[in-house]
Amino acid sequence: MSILENLSRVRDRINSAAFKAGRDPAEIRVVAVTKNVPVAVISEALAGGAAFLGENRVQEFLQKYKQLPKETEWHFIGHLQTNKVKKIIGKVKLIHSLDRWELAEAISKAACNTVCTVDVLVQVNVAGEKTKYGLPVSEAGDFIADALKLPGLNIRGLMTIAPICRNPEEARPFFRQLRELFNLVREIHGPGIEFLSMGMSGDYEVAVEEGANILRIGTALFGTRD
Ligand SMILES: *Cc1c(COP(=O)(O)O)cnc(C)c1O
Repeated sequence: MSILENLSRVRDRINSAAFKAGRDPAEIRVVAVTKNVPVAVISEALAGGAAFLGENRVQEFLQKYKQLPKETEWHFIGHLQTNKVKKIIGKVKLIHSLDRWELAEAISKAACNTVCTVDVLVQVNVAGEKTKYGLPVSEAGDFIADALKLPGLNIRGLMTIAPICRNPEEARPFFRQLRELFNLVREIHGPGIEFLSMGMSGDYEVAVEEGANILRIGTALFGTRD
């Protein structure tokens, strides 16, 4: 399968899932996750209409950032060390992985020194997995209320990574729980809370049915990573 075919197949599936759920597919963004993908292949995806790219490692992101067109919209989706915040600020449009207070402070400080505001999503560890980063559901509400008081830090929504499941249906309760939290946070803090980032190659159709408006998709577009 070519990248172009993969892009159109993923789009078709998103459209079907959206229609099934009574949603407008136009409101659903796909972040093409390009970790381990060479620049030439990423260029092909960009030419084929991929509008947003996601990386989870700072070094790899910076390498690719240098080589790809300036207008590319990058998202940072991985665990971020506080001492690396400065390197990506101003270069990425959205950080999906705000997962602890120390990082909120570091982003706020870096934002105030440079670009003024940084858009972020709060990562929630819905399933409470030991192997994953993110706030517990029970702490996310207070965390967001506090973090919104930090200058320069613009909280735009929530992100989660569902547990690895053989059957995508097993991810549904976690997506639903994040959606409920999202609704609550939006009710409290208003429509600036706009993005719900959930769903990957194995479970994105279920995520669409449960209300995701940003999907992070790697393997289904670029094939299996080494
Ligand atoms: C790698 C990665 C993805 C994409 O995973 P696929 O299963 O390849 O689609 C999504 N989100 C994050 C945070 C990732 O690290």
